[in-house]
Amino acid sequence: MPHSFAPANLAHQLFIGGAWRDASDGSVFEVRDPANGEVITQVASASTEDAIAAVEAAESAGPQWASIAPRERATVLLRAFSAMTARSDELAELIVRENGKSWADAASEVAYAAEFFRWYAEGVPRIAGHVQIAPGGDKRIMVLQQPIGTAVLVTPWNFPAAMATRKIAPALAAGCPVVLKPASDTPLTALAIAALLAEAGVPDGVVNVVPARRSGPVVAAMIAHPATRKLSFTGSTEVGRSLLHGAADNILSVSMELGGNAPLLVFDDADLGSAVEGAVIAKMRNGGQSCIAANRLIVQAGIYTEFAERLAAAMEQMPIGPGMDRQMQVGAMINEAAVDEMADLVTQSVDAGAHIVTGGKADGGPGAFYPPTVLTDVEPGNPILDREIFGPIAPLTKFDTEEQGIALANATPFGLASYVFTADLSRALRVAEALDAGMVGINRGLISDPAAPFGGVKHSGLGREGGSEGIHEFLETKYIAVDW
Ligand code: NAD
Repeated sequence: MPHSFAPANLAHQLFIGGAWRDASDGSVFEVRDPANGEVITQVASASTEDAIAAVEAAESAGPQWASIAPRERATVLLRAFSAMTARSDELAELIVRENGKSWADAASEVAYAAEFFRWYAEGVPRIAGHVQIAPGGDKRIMVLQQPIGTAVLVTPWNFPAAMATRKIAPALAAGCPVVLKPASDTPLTALAIAALLAEAGVPDGVVNVVPARRSGPVVAAMIAHPATRKLSFTGSTEVGRSLLHGAADNILSVSMELGGNAPLLVFDDADLGSAVEGAVIAKMRNGGQSCIAANRLIVQAGIYTEFAERLAAAMEQMPIGPGMDRQMQVGAMINEAAVDEMADLVTQSVDAGAHIVTGGKADGGPGAFYPPTVLTDVEPGNPILDREIFGPIAPLTKFDTEEQGIALANATPFGLASYVFTADLSRALRVAEALDAGMVGINRGLISDPAAPFGGVKHSGLGREGGSEGIHEFLETKYIAVDW
């Protein structure tokens, strides 16, 4: 009998060693619906003892999981893909309810999230080593790829399904057991995925999920545990930096998917319709609460005014409201504090000389809604350019020459995504090479794909998820010197 995601049956306990259990100290925390502020349910809040129990459950289950035939591991992952796909509407509804995003954003997230299981199922039988004769001829050099061991996964609230599966799928494919600590705002999707994975045949203890109201001590206890060998984190640069310090003490392998401040460059020769469409997608997917959201729209002088007008017209037409209404294109932000932050940011930006073309004012509730907003005359030095916005505000900056555009784009410590719109292919590639970013979209606003390596440079992170690269974050190279 499949686990039901109906409100009364939502998984709300810790999932450790294949069993659902309350927190050892009995504590719980509330999960709210950002569209109306109502409490959806209460979830068990893991203590540090629970977190350690989860790492130890993973440690016990790891060797057996690592030793089963690659094809068998792949089959379990394929069943996970099918199970998620079959339950996509239910999962999308859960995401809408605890995260607030629009139905379309939630549905596309579930499809993207499920795809990681299929992609890495296909990767399991292809994990390969190599053998060579040593240059001196005295031995063979044999190289194996082995599972790195118990992995602690920490994920953010903005993609509660995809950020979890982007880590769980390659870890399981590599043969590693995991403990997932989901974001406190969105634990329900992670717990539902745990239930689905158990149904798909993931053995007890291979996937454990420990939501916690206060993440710091729980994550610290897991990172310090001698059985933990890997920390894979997605979240803000600030928290990632502090976890790197903790990981250093236990010499953990780390993957860090951190914050972004993506530039979107539009050149005079760009097809304006495609550039506006791409900018809307890059800015407004997930209501702007995406690490690869276009954060700084850098537009060449010749088309600046027309681009601003057309972008504002496109953004103000987007219906905004509760995600359960499938007509809405912009859902709620994660909470009221995020709405207040958008309002403050617009005030600061206007004080520094920006002009509001559309939006710029929240309607005061109920629900955490903020309208799509376009700001022009956002000059270098304007505070909105120096941070990740994480909301539906598009600040436009003007540039004249290609060199100036590149310099403006690279004027940030972040380097996750970037976007270029131009009809000149050689310029597109030249600029793409010059951008300090892990990913570049050329004439398109949507870049995420499970088959592509996702990740950043500079303060946006370390390592890659997805692609053929993602599985190597969970593999360790072993060299065997052999005479035969
Ligand atoms: P966050 O850093 O506040 O939280 C991320 C996770 O860390 C959550 O599970 C949270 O509970 C936990 N956490 C918070 N404080 C902690 C602490 N002191 N010790 C241990 N764990 C702690 O980030 P968020 O607000 O959930 O997500 C938004 C951020 O995530 C943005 O900066 C966004 O750019 C980034 N993000 C990056 C990517 C990427 O792939 N690069 C993808 C999605 C989101």
